[in-house]
Amino acid sequence: AKPRVVVVGGGYGGATAARYVRIWSEGAIDVTLIEPNAAFISCPLSNLVLGGSRRIGDLTLSLDALARKHGVRLVRDTVTAIDAEKRTLSLAGGQTLSYDRLIVSPGVDFMWDQLPGMLKPGAQESVLHAWKAGAQTVALRAQLEAMPDGGVYAMTIPPAPYRCPPGPYERASQIACYFSRHKPKSKVLILDANDDVVSKGPLFKKVWKERYGGIIEYRPSFRTADIDAAARTANSELGDQVKADVLNVIPPQRAGAIAVRSGLANANARWCGVDFLSFESTQAKNIHVLGDAIAVAPLMPKSAHMANQHAKVCAAAVVDLLNGRAPDLHPMLTNTCYSFVSDTDVIHVASVHAYDAEKKTLLVVSGSGGVSAGPSALEGEYAMNWARNIWADTLS
Ligand code: FAD
Repeated sequence: AKPRVVVVGGGYGGATAARYVRIWSEGAIDVTLIEPNAAFISCPLSNLVLGGSRRIGDLTLSLDALARKHGVRLVRDTVTAIDAEKRTLSLAGGQTLSYDRLIVSPGVDFMWDQLPGMLKPGAQESVLHAWKAGAQTVALRAQLEAMPDGGVYAMTIPPAPYRCPPGPYERASQIACYFSRHKPKSKVLILDANDDVVSKGPLFKKVWKERYGGIIEYRPSFRTADIDAAARTANSELGDQVKADVLNVIPPQRAGAIAVRSGLANANARWCGVDFLSFESTQAKNIHVLGDAIAVAPLMPKSAHMANQHAKVCAAAVVDLLNGRAPDLHPMLTNTCYSFVSDTDVIHVASVHAYDAEKKTLLVVSGSGGVSAGPSALEGEYAMNWARNIWADTLS
């Protein structure tokens, strides 16, 4: 019988890993991908839906080519338990599957217990996160459209690390762009738990001053202690209370629930430690973890680009290991995060990460990468091409 690989989660990490195990094993490894959602909805570009220049349909893609073209077995279900000893997993639908190697890429889940007010009935329906693209993205856009001119949109940002370091600042820019054209008396208030803008700080701050002065206000070190959803109020640890017309809470995050429940989240019970040569869990043999769920290497963002790179290092290692070979000892990963600061203009940050055998981690290659000189429409074209390329590399 062929060796069996099961992949948990058909997002950026999992779908890419499933596709590449099939391609690089030339079909000699059986791959099953388990994903509850009917379609893939991209978080990258989803802030443009909030700004109004894209629709959610533009970011919604089919997983079907993975089955049709690559022979991945797609199972629409949720994994409820993993038994690392028996090498089996259980699905909500009642099925049990066995594997030789398991790849887990469940993304993030939210630590609502840190914001107790969000656990009250109805709170999560009225105060949205929109930090997983889909229904919440569309609903937050509707709240922004319904807000009268002169209103306040406030966003809380959790302490790093969280999914997509520049994402909140791109979101603030998108909403300010929309307000500047359609509701110019309105405000965007950024309540950041961090002491400064976490990614591309000088570039974002320059854009906010030059393009959205009078609209965006940035408040660093605002550590949200709780949310009163009914009053649309964010309360800080220091006792500050901020009321908004539209309140958007990006909650603190940890590895997806299935990883935590399976004991894979061994870093502060939050993130999953991995061996960066194979992305095999440091906690459980034959289980690999990818994407946002891992305890990252220094200066490694939780991004779709990185999840794609993790997936390729992991897929190559899994094909090697199942063929009795040792994985490559010199993985090299890249990352580029583009951020739209208007409907056309973009800034980027890029880096290259190489394996350091002594420190057993991935380190930024000195002199690699960097940031844009400033926003441009040319980078806007690059950003759209980046999205088309990564979608093709993940799903087609
Ligand atoms: P995901 O892509 O979230 O995939 C996880 C999948 O696992 C989901 O489909 C989920 O349904 C499934 N799953 C979870 N639990 C189970 C279970 N128990 N059983 C079965 N399936 C399960 N990154 C960039 O590189 N560039 C950008 O421009 C960018 N912009 C962003 C903008 C926003 C607003 C946000 C929120 C994020 C952005 N990101 C960007 C970050 C990017 O979306 C994530 O880093 C990326 O999705 C991580 O991939 P992943 O595979 O870890 O998780």
